[in-house]
Amino acid sequence: APGLYLVATPIGNLEDITLRALRVLRQADRIACEDTRQTQKLLNHFEIRTPTVSYHMHNEGSRTEELIAELKNGARIAIVSDAGTPGIADPGGQIVAAALASGVDVFPIPGANAAISGLIASGLNTERFTFHGFLPAKAGQRKTALEDLVRGDVTHVFYEAPHRILDTLADIEGVFGPNQHIVIARELTKMHEEFLRGTVADLRSQLSARASIRGEIVLMLAPTTIESTSEDKKNTLAAEVSAMMKS
Ligand code: SAM
Repeated sequence: APGLYLVATPIGNLEDITLRALRVLRQADRIACEDTRQTQKLLNHFEIRTPTVSYHMHNEGSRTEELIAELKNGARIAIVSDAGTPGIADPGGQIVAAALASGVDVFPIPGANAAISGLIASGLNTERFTFHGFLPAKAGQRKTALEDLVRGDVTHVFYEAPHRILDTLADIEGVFGPNQHIVIARELTKMHEEFLRGTVADLRSQLSARASIRGEIVLMLAPTTIESTSEDKKNTLAAEVSAMMKS
């Protein structure tokens, strides 16, 4: 059927592409890619000859107009990002909104996603979780973002870059205390896939001892309990609790 297809692609292991994704990519009139060279490798591997066009942060606006015009003429356009699910910490949102506003059908073609893959094997509570994408790169903003996290029964899931992970762990320790339980999922679905589970203090010292930290990372924080928070937070919590009791 004509419409916009959001096609998930592998986050490492090429076997994680679905049969449906392969068919949709083959049958599409065009594939709009975050990076055409990156996607071309995937298409070559599966011998898919569909023409590609770039669709990324810097041309999202103009490209959206052009693709919507084609979609209104009955085209089948597939959107892919470099890896994983389009629209999740990746381009896609703008064209979905525009397609819906123009009465074009939008179809999700589900598949690999780093956040969900990390979460399900983390051992943390998967019943309720919050996905935050990337933390701010700037130290001050990152600390505020961490301080603003809602406490309670919720697992927090982040994407993080390997060159920033130690700074972020230091901030987490500062805000939540050394005993905050965290999980780091690195290189998911790849040859060197690794899960590190433990307190932020332990994982910090483990990682600092390494000559280098490479690869892609999903970082997760266990639900924050009173026991695992720093003195400051304990005092705030105590004040909140006593205010609640009074009211
Ligand atoms: N759209 C993608 C998805 O569905 O997961 C995410 C795109 S985002 C720009 C890229 C970030 O996702 C990386 O910096 C890393 O934090 C995380 N990521 C992607 N692939 C990963 C993998 N194989 N292992 C761990 N984290 C990964």
